Amino acid sequence: MLLSQKFDLEFPSLKRNINENKLVYLDSAATTLLPKRVANRVYEYSLNHRSNVHRSSHTLAAESTLLLEETRDLLKDFLNASSSKEIIFTKGTTESINLVAYSLAISNFFNDGDEILLNSLEHHANFVPWQQIGKNFNINTKVFKNKDGIFNESEYLNNINKKTRLVAITAHSNVTGQIIDIKDLIKKIKNINEKTLILIDAAQYVPHHEINLKELNADFVAFSGHKMLAPGGIGILWGKKKILNDMNPFLFGGEMIDQVDYEDTSFNILPYKFEAGTPNMEGISGLNEAIKIIDEIGFDLISDHISDITQYAINKLNKLDFIELYGPKDSSQFGIISFNLKNIHPHDVSHLLNDLTGIAIRSGHHCAQLIMKDIGIQSSCRASFYIYNDKNDVDKLYNGLIKVWEWLK
Ligand code: PLP
Repeated sequence: MLLSQKFDLEFPSLKRNINENKLVYLDSAATTLLPKRVANRVYEYSLNHRSNVHRSSHTLAAESTLLLEETRDLLKDFLNASSSKEIIFTKGTTESINLVAYSLAISNFFNDGDEILLNSLEHHANFVPWQQIGKNFNINTKVFKNKDGIFNESEYLNNINKKTRLVAITAHSNVTGQIIDIKDLIKKIKNINEKTLILIDAAQYVPHHEINLKELNADFVAFSGHKMLAPGGIGILWGKKKILNDMNPFLFGGEMIDQVDYEDTSFNILPYKFEAGTPNMEGISGLNEAIKIIDEIGFDLISDHISDITQYAINKLNKLDFIELYGPKDSSQFGIISFNLKNIHPHDVSHLLNDLTGIAIRSGHHCAQLIMKDIGIQSSCRASFYIYNDKNDVDKLYNGLIKVWEWLK
């Protein structure tokens, strides 16, 4: 039974037919489908409570402000953070990481000789901002390469030394589906250099794995609402209070100020100093509901369900001799399967799968061109799973790929 059905969650998109075939959605690593419950919550907020926050004293403004702060508190519990003041609303993972990179750079966190360690496994959102601040602020960056696209912890740790001021690393690859044991990794990094700041890109990880910040000892965690049942355009940055307090904001405007004078401006307290401008309240109302849904199901059920489908898919697709699968292909691979059909462009595969069978997968470089180079390919097909998928969907993919192969071989 679908996990979503067990919890009475309706996903209207799944009722759609694509060329007379029922939609099979296998692109949740890009964006999850929206539950009706979340859409209804956004609708209800938008029609009855919509107004700006923290500014006016009328009832609607008070309700919006309450919802904003209630959602921050919800996130504090969701992540087991020490304080909701450490939770900053952004547009998404990309903005969260850019915020950290630029704020650290303009706050002189990096001294001569300091190094930022990057990883070729990263989505561009966790690579390009660091590469660019490296270039613009003269900070050394080093990139760890992943042989065949597989992350090896001990080889990675050889790159941590007394100069390593920051590491930016994903907890879950959006290409190979490899889960990185970030808790263990962080412990080992801090043992080598306790001053190393660690930013975790949790965009792929948070939708199905618990983050317990009190145990994790990361310094920053970034993720996006749209990959965890919430609407688009809302993201989260969590950072340790002490470090956030020492960082200068890099987006300026309303809400983030304390006093503005002709000569200079003083800034608001956390988290507001990093939240310039009007927040995405529609996104926040939906995120509020999405977190409640994930909490109701629980991470144990979600991750068992998806792990089960993933292992089934690896075994099943491995049987097709015209397919090459990438990634670890063991229990560390989770929720995502990247593959190619021999000598066929992935765009052709995803097009035909859509048109002939109604199966939606992603094709391309998945915003991760470096890992593509490590694997030795330019692009791939990617199937990814969430709570509204089951093994039947994998069977449909298997049969669909045979059909596509017969057309294109
Ligand atoms: N990091 C990872 C691992 C991702 O998979 C993605 C999106 O695919 C991002 C970052 C960027 O997320 P967003 O586009 O929501 O900012």
